[in-house]
Amino acid sequence: MRYDVVVVGTGPAGLKTAEQTAARGLKTLVLEKRQSVTDSLMGELVTDKALKLLRISPDSEYVGNKFTAIVGESLDTGANIVVNRSLLGNSYLLDEDKCQELMRDRAVADGAEFRYKARVDSVIRDGQQIVGVQYNHTQEARGSLTVGADGSFSRVSATAGFTHPKWLLSYGYRFKLANCKNVDPKTAYFYVGRDVGLGYLWFYPRSETEVNLGIGRVPSSKDLWYRLPPMMDVLRKYMKTHEETKDAKVVGVNGGVVPCTGIIPRFTDAGVALCGNSAGQVSSIVGGGVTTCLHAGTLLARHAKRMVEEDDFSRESVYQYEKEYRMSKLAKNIENTGRGMWAVFKYAMFNDPLEAAEIVLRELDASTLNEIVQGSFGAATLMRLFTDFLPMVVRIGKGYLKSVAVSGP
Ligand SMILES: Cc1cc2nc3c(=O)[nH]c(=O)nc-3n(C[C@H](O)[C@H](O)[C@H](O)COP(=O)(O)OP(=O)(O)OC[C@H]3O[C@@H](n4cnc5c(N)ncnc54)[C@H](O)[C@@H]3O)c2cc1C
Repeated sequence: MRYDVVVVGTGPAGLKTAEQTAARGLKTLVLEKRQSVTDSLMGELVTDKALKLLRISPDSEYVGNKFTAIVGESLDTGANIVVNRSLLGNSYLLDEDKCQELMRDRAVADGAEFRYKARVDSVIRDGQQIVGVQYNHTQEARGSLTVGADGSFSRVSATAGFTHPKWLLSYGYRFKLANCKNVDPKTAYFYVGRDVGLGYLWFYPRSETEVNLGIGRVPSSKDLWYRLPPMMDVLRKYMKTHEETKDAKVVGVNGGVVPCTGIIPRFTDAGVALCGNSAGQVSSIVGGGVTTCLHAGTLLARHAKRMVEEDDFSRESVYQYEKEYRMSKLAKNIENTGRGMWAVFKYAMFNDPLEAAEIVLRELDASTLNEIVQGSFGAATLMRLFTDFLPMVVRIGKGYLKSVAVSGP
């Protein structure tokens, strides 16, 4: 059987693409190497935009908690910034399993077929055209459009020949904790610190007694990476040294990897498109990928429908998805944060990034920090940085220029 669309991967990017292609009446096949869509790390902290893309309400069973404030804090000195709801908008903690099941069930109801334990090895080519994938060594799935939504180590991307010269990955773990005490369920925390390295530790309450505690870290230089304590140890140390989590029980452990230097140079070709982590569609500084994946999947499905109607899966036709995607506000924010993360990486090669983080937490205001982290800053923010925070900008900027002079941009 030949499908209109073969989707590889059931993270938020693949599930959204499949939900939307099936809803548009396209013959959709989804291949996933795991045995179900649940029990994975889909990503949990999101804003209203993700709820809209998921078509769920804040009071529904798909939302586990809602925050009114987010605090950025140094584990070493306690310096902190509080970003409240007026700056942030609403922040929600998703119930990941329920959200993934929801998208799968919608796709299945509209006729999509799911195959589990189906590990894709490579794409299949007919001349220049990609016409499907080979999986489990001997099996084939053929389709007019192949979607690589198979994450940061995408086989579709690697075998279709996509390249990503500035590819920096952030590695993360998350503990689900129960039996916590006296947690303020309305406040989420992001921590920086010596033990954390180039990244952050997060504390997202699910309730007064349940917390998701995680850590994400970018290898800034080989030496620094090996001198840091293992990430699991950092989480356990946090648990031991904080009253709320001292007696907590770890009831779940997940890990994952996200790209953090922006969108890759090209993510479409004849008969193939990447979506989600595989394309670098992640808000780079915070490593937020849920909203960006849902947005990309929605857009890709709309273009898939057009391609089927026009019976045109040429390089130019598939590129229309990439073109429209790159013009979106979310893509521009990803590019901004990706450039920012690359600059931080460069800075950290020859300077102490934690010292810079401490300066930022001490001196920057919450509004400017929020805009930088979201990648939504414009000329006004840049002006404010140069007028209100000039000594800080000069100090950090000098270190950056030194790094660029030694290692190139
Ligand atoms: C620790 C951590 C915490 C995070 N927290 C948040 C958060 O709070 N908010 C947020 O917005 N984002 C968060 N993110 C980021 C977010 O989880 C990712 O950006 C998002 O999951 C990417 O979705 P995806 O569909 O592109 O890829 P993935 O979620 O990686 O899914 C890829 C799928 O493809 C499958 N697959 C891979 N290779 C193959 C193959 N060869 N054959 C078949 N199937 C294959 C995998 O099994 C997987 O199911 C977090 C990430 C991590 C690591």
